[in-house]
Amino acid sequence: MLTIKCPWCGERDQIEFSYGGEGHIARPTETEKLTDAEWGDYIFFRKNPKGVHYERWTHSAGCRRWFNAVRHTVTDQFWDVYKTGEEAPVPPEDWDGIQSRAEYEAARSTQAAKKEG
Ligand SMILES: [Zn+2]
Repeated sequence: MLTIKCPWCGERDQIEFSYGGEGHIARPTETEKLTDAEWGDYIFFRKNPKGVHYERWTHSAGCRRWFNAVRHTVTDQFWDVYKTGEEAPVPPEDWDGIQSRAEYEAARSTQAAKKEG
């Protein structure tokens, strides 16, 4: 079962959430100066990466609040969630999208401890 962590409510079943598309898309200012192609890019074109994706979610069957998430599109593993307006957490380059952030960081600290010991 896939669970998603709401920043306000905590871990919940995925069926309580709705996907809201790519995150961090700012509406262009001075739209009258945009070309049709630039306007079309804003309206229709979104990233579709294989790997790390920054996106918007809403806890639609819970608190109904919107938040942002960093998810791996191949494994559906979430690196982290964060409230709108907060700085986006950036997963490390070598994150494979399989481990959760907690598992990844625990493995890193174990490796660091072995090197020191
Ligand atoms: Zn919630």
